[in-house]
Amino acid sequence: MRILRFRKTPQDPPTWGWLANGEIGLLDGSPFEDFRRLEAKISLDKAQLLSPVAPGKIICVGHNYAAHAAEHEVEVPQIPLLFLKPPSTVIGPGGSIFLPPQSQNVEHEAELAVVIGAHGRWLTKEQAKDVILGYTAALDITARDLQRQDDQWTRAKGFDTFCPLGPWIETDLDPADALITCTVNGNLRQMASTRDMIFPVWEIVAFVSSVMSLEPGDVILTGTPAGVGPLKPGDEVTVEIEGIGVLSIAVKNDPNVERTQENR
Ligand code: ZN
Repeated sequence: MRILRFRKTPQDPPTWGWLANGEIGLLDGSPFEDFRRLEAKISLDKAQLLSPVAPGKIICVGHNYAAHAAEHEVEVPQIPLLFLKPPSTVIGPGGSIFLPPQSQNVEHEAELAVVIGAHGRWLTKEQAKDVILGYTAALDITARDLQRQDDQWTRAKGFDTFCPLGPWIETDLDPADALITCTVNGNLRQMASTRDMIFPVWEIVAFVSSVMSLEPGDVILTGTPAGVGPLKPGDEVTVEIEGIGVLSIAVKNDPNVERTQENR
């Protein structure tokens, strides 16, 4: 099943829906509790899709593909390398990545995102799948120059708009072998299968749950394959994950700041 959040007009509050043959039906209830699927009769092109979840927390895994670790000349980690992005980084389909004036090198990282559906703590790998609601596509947008300056990545990974999610949550995906593709203006930048992950999805979920409680609506970004590269104003960056769908996002300079030396 495909679960999404949308609104019909900019004035409407976000609403849960489900997708059937290009039509949206309302969900009576929430995907994290009991719900009923109502008849699908709203055309997908008439709806404004929002990020398919408004996460409580966003947990990310660094260097989870050997080829990406190699392009950054770092060793493959022995245990999952965790970091967080704040919920204020999230944008949905139709949103724009705002390039901050502090960085001269903002890069795309296309990733499979896990959406947590139930509370979990101290889970085994076998139990991990029971707390997963589904999967969506994500971009772990990164100010690479700031990441190199800082030991901790909060600043480089934490700017508003740095976590596009969407277009919807697919509940029936096999995360062990899904193809991730990233293009910028139609040019191929990243392509790999999730089978190349060093720590597979269920192992990541179990590991995270040994550190912190997982709660409904939390999102885990599972790392990016090789091929990360720069974004510039006017670009269109697209992530496609086989079995999920396509997430396309525009790239702009942050319109909320004067791009002066004082901002850096
Ligand atoms: Zn990443």
